[in-house]
Amino acid sequence: MSAQSFLLLFIILLIADYLLNVIIDRINLANQPAQLPEDLKGIYTEESFEKSKLYLKDNTRFQWISSSFSLLLSLIVFSLGLLGPLYQWVGTLTNQPLFHFLLFFGAVFIISDLLNLPFQWYKTFVIEEKHGFNRTTPGLFIKDKLVALLMTVVIGGLLATVFFQLVKIFDVNFWWYFWLVIIVMLLLVNFLYTSVFLPLFNKLTPLEDGVLKTSILDYARKVNFPLSKVMVMDGSKRSSKANAFFSGFGKQKKIVLFDTLIQNHSVEELVAVLAHETGHFKKRHIWQNLAIGIIQTGAMLYLLSLMLYNYEVSLALGGNQHILALNLVGFAILYSPISELLGVLLHAWSRKNEFEADRYAAETYQASPLIDALKKLSEKNLSNPTPHPLYVKFHYSHPPLLERLSALRKLENNNNH
Ligand SMILES: [Zn+2]
Repeated sequence: MSAQSFLLLFIILLIADYLLNVIIDRINLANQPAQLPEDLKGIYTEESFEKSKLYLKDNTRFQWISSSFSLLLSLIVFSLGLLGPLYQWVGTLTNQPLFHFLLFFGAVFIISDLLNLPFQWYKTFVIEEKHGFNRTTPGLFIKDKLVALLMTVVIGGLLATVFFQLVKIFDVNFWWYFWLVIIVMLLLVNFLYTSVFLPLFNKLTPLEDGVLKTSILDYARKVNFPLSKVMVMDGSKRSSKANAFFSGFGKQKKIVLFDTLIQNHSVEELVAVLAHETGHFKKRHIWQNLAIGIIQTGAMLYLLSLMLYNYEVSLALGGNQHILALNLVGFAILYSPISELLGVLLHAWSRKNEFEADRYAAETYQASPLIDALKKLSEKNLSNPTPHPLYVKFHYSHPPLLERLSALRKLENNNNH
């Protein structure tokens, strides 16, 4: 394939991805009922339903503006072939090929992050603020950005260095070795998530003794689940939205509850949420997801190895010779439709797992407090209760509220009869 054809393909892929997402967003927005639907009565009030529609509208419009901006920027950068000259300019700062490689990606990252900053600011301090979710202060926002930047520099820089050296030593066979590195890193991040990464952003404190703690530990004992710690996270310092998750492997499992979750739910509801999360472990979803991630990464790295030395890809992006860094950028664009397709499959898989975890919670605990918790969470987070099925396919890792409730109600009835 010639450089011109590659360039054309890049541009077509960028525009197609943009149009696909805009169309799905529009369909989803047009799908919103004017009145509160019958089956939502008692879950959403007229008022909260109106609010959730307004939130969806604001978010969709914002998404459209920010993705239009990125598309326009990408089209300018690619059609003018600006990445090649940027690579050359960065090269005037160092004689070391490794530093040249690192500086190029550092520059691309910093430029795109700076251009994105106004959008992130607007999302937090205008949209989330307007809808009553934001608790982040400008100081915290800046601190978060700096910590994230530092983490990206350290972890990203380390991975990029390893990648560069492996390509130098093993050539196209680099992918095997780099895959092993990624596997170790994925396991490490999973293992260290609540002890190292999360505390960089949030404060975790052990749940104080009381009815909630006793109920959680009683449940864990009953289903023979090795729960070592119950932690509370100060999620309220950023947002009023609530969540809960598990972390850790083997005998060292921890549950992390957002303080915002504890504030708004009864003990029974919280144990039901925990029972759902336990279901993900018991049904081996956590391991399966990790395995899928590992296989997917291996396949991606193999495909990358096929593209690594394609001279025309470098030319298409404005290089005057083969440049490893430019081929990585080219590959990222070529891989995006594959990743979009995989996303649809993985979301379907994830939605199936959510039903399984709900069923586990209903069988080992009770369905009704989980139903109550899901209703409350959905209304409080102004989640869209009436998404279009196509939008669900592309974006929903969890089944829409009404589908989850009706599956749980069936289980509830089965248990009662
Ligand atoms: Zn779940």
